[in-house]
Amino acid sequence: MAYQQPPLPYADNALEPHISANTISFHYGKHHATYVKNYNGLVEGTPFDAMSLEEVILQTANDASKVGVFNNGAQAWNHTFYWNGLTPNGGGAPTGAIAAKIVEDFGSVDKFKDELKNAAATQFGSGWAWLVLDGGTLKVTKTGNAQNPMTSGQTPLLCIDVWEHAYYLDYQNRRPDHVAAVIENLINWDFVNANYAAAK
Ligand code: MN
Repeated sequence: MAYQQPPLPYADNALEPHISANTISFHYGKHHATYVKNYNGLVEGTPFDAMSLEEVILQTANDASKVGVFNNGAQAWNHTFYWNGLTPNGGGAPTGAIAAKIVEDFGSVDKFKDELKNAAATQFGSGWAWLVLDGGTLKVTKTGNAQNPMTSGQTPLLCIDVWEHAYYLDYQNRRPDHVAAVIENLINWDFVNANYAAAK
């Protein structure tokens, strides 16, 4: 019962010029696909095979003997969440219920965007920047490597991949430029609102 990599929710060139089809071809087609392949190889014939990715992530977090399962399973989950959080002609001002909640918890949309950009820029090395719901409050956080805020009891609403493979072909070392382009042009606010509605 192998876990299947979900299809990309848009064409591989749909996020251009902000993320190129070339980047997507490696990022979705090689990096993400490899996490899924490695995950399936590791869980085959184990009880994890019958569990959801979320269950496996929560059960293997901080267990040194299960680090391979955790890293590949969490990266499989994180990447699908990342793809679904992006959309052509996205970004800009938040819409729906999350818009008011962002102003309530961050003070303004600009403050939220600055905090998210700062988290993405300052994550040292590989990892992720996140918008999460934590005890009813929106927060921006960052995690290293495959880590996911759900293991800290937070509910992810949006993530930005800041591994070099996410931007190096298009932006080389200019991670902040990549992150700004994603935030201003690609955030799927419908996805963020759906996650927020489910988490409340
Ligand atoms: Mn990635």
